Amino acid sequence: MTSEQSHSSNAHSPITGLILAGGQGRRMGRVDKGLQRLHGRRMVDHVYERLCPQVGGIVISANQNQDAYRSFGVRVVSDMVTAAPGDDRGAGPLAGLHAGLSVSRRPLLMSVPCDTPFIPADLVSRLQAQLEQAGAQIAVVRTGNQSHPVFALMRRSVLGHLSEFLKAGGRKIDHWYASLKLVEVDFPDASAFANINTREELQQWEQHAVASSAAHTVTSSPAIKASSNPLPASLPVRDAQALIRKQVPLPRARQTVSLRESLGRVLAEDVISPINVPAHDNSAMDGWAVRSQDLHAQEDTRLQEIGSALAGVPFQGRVEAGQCVRITTGAVMPEGCDSVVVQEVARQEVSDRPDGITCIWVPTGQSAGQNRRLAGEDLAAGKPALRAGTRMNPAAIGLLASIGLTQVPVYQRLRVAILSTGDELCPPGQPLRAGQIYDSNRHTLWGLLQQLGCEVIDLGMVRDDPLLLEAALRQAAASADAVITSGGVSVGEADFTKPMMRKLGEVEFWTIAMRPGRPMAFGWIAAEDNSTHRAMLFGLPGNPVAVMVTFHHFVRAALLRMMGCGDGVRNDSDDAADVAAGDVPLLRARSSVAIRKRPGRTEYQRGVLSRGTRDGRDEPQVRLTGSQGSGILRSMVEADCFIVLDHAQGDVAPGDWVDVMLLEGLQ
Ligand code: AMP
Ligand code: MG
Repeated sequence: MTSEQSHSSNAHSPITGLILAGGQGRRMGRVDKGLQRLHGRRMVDHVYERLCPQVGGIVISANQNQDAYRSFGVRVVSDMVTAAPGDDRGAGPLAGLHAGLSVSRRPLLMSVPCDTPFIPADLVSRLQAQLEQAGAQIAVVRTGNQSHPVFALMRRSVLGHLSEFLKAGGRKIDHWYASLKLVEVDFPDASAFANINTREELQQWEQHAVASSAAHTVTSSPAIKASSNPLPASLPVRDAQALIRKQVPLPRARQTVSLRESLGRVLAEDVISPINVPAHDNSAMDGWAVRSQDLHAQEDTRLQEIGSALAGVPFQGRVEAGQCVRITTGAVMPEGCDSVVVQEVARQEVSDRPDGITCIWVPTGQSAGQNRRLAGEDLAAGKPALRAGTRMNPAAIGLLASIGLTQVPVYQRLRVAILSTGDELCPPGQPLRAGQIYDSNRHTLWGLLQQLGCEVIDLGMVRDDPLLLEAALRQAAASADAVITSGGVSVGEADFTKPMMRKLGEVEFWTIAMRPGRPMAFGWIAAEDNSTHRAMLFGLPGNPVAVMVTFHHFVRAALLRMMGCGDGVRNDSDDAADVAAGDVPLLRARSSVAIRKRPGRTEYQRGVLSRGTRDGRDEPQVRLTGSQGSGILRSMVEADCFIVLDHAQGDVAPGDWVDVMLLEGLQ
């Protein structure tokens, strides 16, 4: 079973966090509130992200949808003790508390409902301070004169007391609290404890975010009162990837190119093989072609060699009983033969007859059909040799050559415009003035796009001037399928880029729960207001490492999809298509070092893989490439992999297994 404490950064904390979930959601139409989405994420995700750093481990109590809650990799419990069958009232939050207390191994338990996405960052520390100071059994949140009983920090020792209370039929949380030594702790902001009960409330938050043009920096709500404790609501990497995947268009325009020109391009149609490959049954070894029915099971068999079959020069005639034919690898199997005896095992007996006819002795233990390749074994005539959506690599080029093709139907090359923003930028080759830096991002992006097989339109550098940037973006949108910018999307700078980009189309500014990375703009822009041609826009952060990380984890897969990768298998399986279109499989390696990691964001550390020995076993191991600052491009040069530390993961100890994504071979 998954342990409760796997994901917290402060594993030594004496507190288990308990998220009360899986309730009945009566006012929301009997849906599970924790699983409803706010800003593209489940409400429980918001709660988890806020609670995680405050406690040593998390348990979720839910009587339904437990698999969904297990997505965090934490323990999910249901209350079997008190949930009587058919008891529709259930024991409410007390049942959840009971379940949480029963499994918690830490001395304190902090309960929080799953539908309160705004809980404060100092919730636990304030309650704990008061609990200790008052020597109480339980500390409960109060705002103004309202008590919030489900936000409570309690000692594990109250479990026995709660069991008694429930056994005696007690159901009301405040009745139980009344029998405990309780301290109420004042918090200034009631809206931080607001729970979202109805669809209308959910929509109000959702719409408010859109209206305020800050989907992830909500500051106040007209309906739920201003919150001094805004949503952190940075978007998890997976959610951002899913949002991008949904929006990027599939390719349409096709062309036919010559076989060699197709390298790196994406097939626009299935290629049907006009022939069998191999065209005939043939030999996989040098030796003698034989009829397996001639071979004796118990003793060696003597066969007469009646000729030879060479690659390119078939044997003419038919092989009869007791005969065999000398054969070389790749030669067509003579008529009548079904197996090849390799030359190393056969014994030759040279005839003294003038025609030089030779006999061979074949030892026992041969099997029918051995060392023979069947016609069509590699590719069958009339069947797809390659599927649409295949990226043409050297093997694929060879394969099409092997069926005799010289022309290949491909999608048109994706046109991608790149530009760098920033007043501080200077092109390489010119002397730097004070305060300037060389523009490296555009060159990195150029390289990444070349490797991907895109046609790159380099629009140079643009100063931090909305009018200039607008003109450059309009030009980019007119000439490209996708536009990649670097810089100008971080919180301070986005103030001027945001309204301008929005004017050109639909662009969202995200704060992504990742490091490096974080700010990113995504959407589409058009060259002119009524233009039907749209270009996808990826506004990447300015830091050089963040550019590469966001490119690898968001842009690459999107561009591959726009190029048509995985197209042909999309109908068979979305998973297969996603792999073909850039979902990179992760490997596992042991970390040779400790890595600090905060739960609640995905981190991409630059690593170097090697082989190590542990307990006598050979194992892959990974270390960090020194400093991991997001401006240190050297770390990307030295690295051969990303160490991918998952959203929920906490610190890594030396010897822990970590996910690793190879950079080499990534295109
Ligand atoms: P920004 O996202 O525009 O705030 O930039 C973040 C950091 O990245 C700053 O230190 C910039 O100087 C740096 N930076 C921005 N653009 C580039 C670029 N094209 N090449 C190298 N560094 C850059
Ligand atoms: Mg800048």
